[in-house]
Amino acid sequence: MLSASDACLRYVDEEHYCPHCKSRLSCCQAPPVHVGDGLGWGSEVLFICLNDECSLFVNGWQHVEEQYGHSASFRYMKLPDGEAQAMMVAGKDAFKGCVIDPETIKAQNKRYTKEKEALSQLDTCVAEKNLEPVIFLLTDEAAGVEGRKRACELLLEMNDITCVDPLRNHKFVNTTIEQNVEMAIRQILKANFKKECSHCAEIIKAQAKVCMHCGKEI
Ligand SMILES: [Zn+2]
Ligand SMILES: [Zn+2]
Repeated sequence: MLSASDACLRYVDEEHYCPHCKSRLSCCQAPPVHVGDGLGWGSEVLFICLNDECSLFVNGWQHVEEQYGHSASFRYMKLPDGEAQAMMVAGKDAFKGCVIDPETIKAQNKRYTKEKEALSQLDTCVAEKNLEPVIFLLTDEAAGVEGRKRACELLLEMNDITCVDPLRNHKFVNTTIEQNVEMAIRQILKANFKKECSHCAEIIKAQAKVCMHCGKEI
């Protein structure tokens, strides 16, 4: 059985052609207003005929003018569920800025699938002492904030000091997550009777007066 995401990936992988002008359809990132997160990944895609010579587009201007009394035309558009429709466009350049490489979509989908997988592992990660999904979510800036916040709470619960290095090596973009992680790291260090050397940042014993890594006095 195909999942929605398999169907979408196949759709992105296939070549699609316009029945009006026979030219190959362009893969576009749909405007965010069109539909929500319904396709199984974070972004919406659609295939559209952007050929300015396409008969649907060329003849559409007059049709819209007569029917609706304003200036617009149509582009042939195909959605992942196979649904095809004439999409009204206000000008020649509509959608031309949204053309994307199907490879980008596939990469996005791969990331999204990994995120979903990590999220589903959160329920069992504490019992299994599995830090991986937690670190994955915390270091993936494209992951949803709710999932990352939850990962941060679990981080504290797991109290595993090996989390410090990968998190310290990550450059956070989301400052809320960064602050949450910073607080969690401090608490984890404290609970493990450790601290970070103020000179070399290596983890050392909380009561150490001299760093065993850089030899400097704390
Ligand atoms: Zn066409
Ligand atoms: Zn040091």
